[in-house]
Amino acid sequence: MDFRLNDEQQLLVENVRTLMKSENWDAYFAECDAKHQYPERWVKALCDLGFDLIMLPEEHGGLDLGLVTLAAVYEELGRLGAPTYVLYQLPCFDTILREGTPEQIEKILAYVGTGKQIWNSACTEPGAGSDVGSLQTNYTRRAGKIYLNGHKTFITSSAHVPYLVIMARDSESPDTFTEFLLDMSLPGIKVEPLEKLGLRMDSCSDVYLDNVELDESDIFGTEGNGFRRGVKDFDLERFLVAACDYGWALCAFEDAARYANVRVQFSKPIGRFQLNQLKFAEMAVRINAMKNMIYETAWSYDQGEMTSAQAAMCKYFCPTTAAEVVDRAMQVMGGISVAGDHRVQRIWRDLRVERISGGTDEMMVLTLAKGVLRQYAV
Ligand SMILES: Cc1cc2nc3c(=O)[nH]c(=O)nc-3n(C[C@H](O)[C@H](O)[C@H](O)COP(=O)(O)OP(=O)(O)OC[C@H]3O[C@@H](n4cnc5c(N)ncnc54)[C@H](O)[C@@H]3O)c2cc1C
Repeated sequence: MDFRLNDEQQLLVENVRTLMKSENWDAYFAECDAKHQYPERWVKALCDLGFDLIMLPEEHGGLDLGLVTLAAVYEELGRLGAPTYVLYQLPCFDTILREGTPEQIEKILAYVGTGKQIWNSACTEPGAGSDVGSLQTNYTRRAGKIYLNGHKTFITSSAHVPYLVIMARDSESPDTFTEFLLDMSLPGIKVEPLEKLGLRMDSCSDVYLDNVELDESDIFGTEGNGFRRGVKDFDLERFLVAACDYGWALCAFEDAARYANVRVQFSKPIGRFQLNQLKFAEMAVRINAMKNMIYETAWSYDQGEMTSAQAAMCKYFCPTTAAEVVDRAMQVMGGISVAGDHRVQRIWRDLRVERISGGTDEMMVLTLAKGVLRQYAV
């Protein structure tokens, strides 16, 4: 397998690198993180370079360059300390193009190039976390309309997106799970943002639905297919989480390596001490393993062959392994890594959340193990 970037991919990565050097984005990210604010100016600048066109098919004005290209861009952005987690909506147009009606597609694609937050999927409820199938949000048909009632929680981006895809069960037929493309300006919707440890540049909220009136045309995809649709699209989201985490590990590793070469203690750069060298060796092994896993999985996706087990492997391995790398990098950097405003602190907080959001480590283990064992079923 040859993972060298072609000229087009290299150009995109170089453009991203130039953007990241064009101003002190680190200060902007720190400010957005402190204010729990979406870094729209930065996302818009990325969209101006065509970031949100990378995965969009050409017939919709996209570049259709595939997941390996996206992985390379994520790698570079993460390496330079960017909050790549806020970009998760932009490569996921496949969902709307596959499931949406022409009107729904038009609504979502109208945001391409704007840098604004667009939409997200809302499954989790106070009583339904890993066990999504136990959700209680329901819909009822009355006099030609559909009424949605329930309480979603931990919903990313929900404070600012114009649309949410809400999964609900039919009150008349509780085994029927259906999704709705919800216009967030409708009456009966209340959003209450939650504070969180990391990933603070994106909102995370409780969403209350009180008799929200919808039309049949608001159904997203096929009635009764909601659960299967959601599960299918989790795989790409899981891969993207892993790609973010790998990039941030690279960032922390490089920051620590640069520091270890110049920080002098006991009359020597601290990188000369064998206890620190062990940490660099351990970090390098982990970074290499994540890199290979990310690129191999992206390549499989581009061949139409990525399995749920592969996505789960990435989502299990990268957040935990990146956390091990970042922990070692912080140890090498000593006091400046925990006091002051070094970006590694934000990365450390963000990584901790990644092991829960988008599916916990434990659920990834279950999906991965099932996929592995299935290969050897007799
Ligand atoms: C920052 C953030 C953003 C999120 N964004 C969204 C979003 O946009 N949309 C959305 O729908 N959801 C979102 N979520 C919800 C997220 O998917 C859930 O938090 C996650 O699936 C776990 O659910 P839970 O928190 O209820 O934990 P629980 O499911 O209650 O699990 C608690 C613990 O038990 C373990 N556990 C549960 N079941 C099993 C089992 N069968 N075997 C072994 N261990 C098990 C879990 O792994 C975990 O360690 C977000 C969460 C966070 C924290």
